[in-house]
Amino acid sequence: MIVYVDMDDVLCDYSTKIELAKINSPEIEFPQSTANFFRQLNPIIDAISSIEILRATRGIDLYILTAPSTKNPLSYTEKRLWVEDHFDYEFTKRLIICSNKGLLKGDILIDDHISGRGQEIFEGKLIHFGNCEFPNWKSVMKKIL
Ligand SMILES: [Mg+2]
Repeated sequence: MIVYVDMDDVLCDYSTKIELAKINSPEIEFPQSTANFFRQLNPIIDAISSIEILRATRGIDLYILTAPSTKNPLSYTEKRLWVEDHFDYEFTKRLIICSNKGLLKGDILIDDHISGRGQEIFEGKLIHFGNCEFPNWKSVMKKIL
């Protein structure tokens, strides 16, 4: 079973950092376009431990599938560094950066958006992270395992 996991607001807390940046540095219009923004994102609660369980589960072929912030070229590198910071070098080989997630073949996509980056044409099942059915990683893990 091929499982893809989104990064922003699924593995790492993108929205909180945006909100804080708008309060602390209101002069910066797009904080997500500044250096170190993506590398310094905090993990979402239970995301790291859940990923470690999925990586160790036989029968699950796990990848991170994230769209780049194309106006911030550093986002490509920082997403790669974030994965090594929070997991290990091996897992960076499982990082796919792609603006159209619908092109990837697989069984499950865990994403906080159901459209916009090809999620709407993904051939497998979309687990809508953050909605009422899957508000957190505990509910996602219950569904997958
Ligand atoms: Mg996202």
